[in-house]
Amino acid sequence: MDLFEYQARDIFEKHGVPVLAAAIATTADEAEKAATTIGGKVVVKAQVKVGGRGKAGGVKLAENPQDAREKAGAILGMDIKGHTVRTVMIAAAAPIEAEYYLSILLDRSNRTFLVMASVSGGMDIEEVAHTAPEKLAKIPVSAVDGISLAKAKEIVAAAAFPADVADQVVQVLLKLWDVFQGEDATLVEVNPLVKTKDGKVIALDGKVTLDDNADFRQPDHQSLVDQDAENPLEAAAKEKGLNYVKLDGQVGIIGNGAGLVMSTLDVVAYAGEKHGGVRPANFLDIGGGASAQIMADGLSIILGDADVKSVFVNVFGGITACDAVANGIVQALELLGPKATKPIVVRLDGNNVVEGRAILAKAAHPLVEQADTMDGAANRAAELAAK
Ligand code: GDP
Ligand code: MN
Repeated sequence: MDLFEYQARDIFEKHGVPVLAAAIATTADEAEKAATTIGGKVVVKAQVKVGGRGKAGGVKLAENPQDAREKAGAILGMDIKGHTVRTVMIAAAAPIEAEYYLSILLDRSNRTFLVMASVSGGMDIEEVAHTAPEKLAKIPVSAVDGISLAKAKEIVAAAAFPADVADQVVQVLLKLWDVFQGEDATLVEVNPLVKTKDGKVIALDGKVTLDDNADFRQPDHQSLVDQDAENPLEAAAKEKGLNYVKLDGQVGIIGNGAGLVMSTLDVVAYAGEKHGGVRPANFLDIGGGASAQIMADGLSIILGDADVKSVFVNVFGGITACDAVANGIVQALELLGPKATKPIVVRLDGNNVVEGRAILAKAAHPLVEQADTMDGAANRAAELAAK
């Protein structure tokens, strides 16, 4: 999950990274009040999860609270690269003398963490990386050792930070590592890290990406989710612990195992070409232990999608054999009752397939049809969706 700048700022503050006073506002009124509380000159900054806000006119200096009100009024509602600005952050304005760049990220291809540092920070770090790569120091950081004092000094030396800020940048690096490790982040970026006219080093803009796989040990991160941006079906699925991704087609998909579900999406898209271009409506992997409850949860999410016209249940019986899955489907349809409204094509194969098919045949639910093969089932589901 990517965070908004204000959320990154708050996390920085919690871990002792130097930041400036700030508050968020969703109306011009609130912006004026926030600017009054902060006092003096402020910066009004659009909160959108996309880079290059500054250049797009989403970052404006304001001389006083009245000015902050006007600037906020102009920025709120603005569209920045397809993102509507719903919130602005009002932050104390810093008298900037120099702009630097620091980031810690997961370097997947080299199977390590990586720090990038440059004394040429500000808005155009991508351009620095392109045109003057020697100005961007890249130092691998081992997951075991992290950023020690010695490592932080090595980074500061490699990026040639000036002597008068070196000690402060070392401290910032140690704190940023704290953020990275302590919050289970995959990216922590500060651009710009500034030196103010009175010689202080401060993080002026922050970008943080959290690793969702660590949610189980980061219960606080739940409150950082942007409810406005969440797809309601995906949110409901997440609540039920289901691995669901909404797509824009008409054939609802349920399968067990990510690989099987991915190939199911492909065969449905392929079959759909012969039926007016219908496409898969979602990814849903119910995993190994497909209990009746999980099947019912999955079906109810998919049937709750107004775009869905038919459902394709594609299960390969393994540890959970086909008879258990078939019982799960029958019980799920009992649980759903009149909420089950769309035709369901079921393809079972693998362990105890004969028993599984017999259970479905005996139940003879009016919405359920069986198919022998994956291609046959995909074709039938696409045909039903096209009707
Ligand atoms: P971004 O364009 O989304 O990365 O937004 P930033 O928060 O990095 O701001 C872009 C630029 O605005 C910075 O590089 C600074 O030059 C300028 N800026 C941001 N905050 C302040 C501030 O407090 N004072 C001054 N003078 N300039 C600022
Ligand atoms: Mn920035």
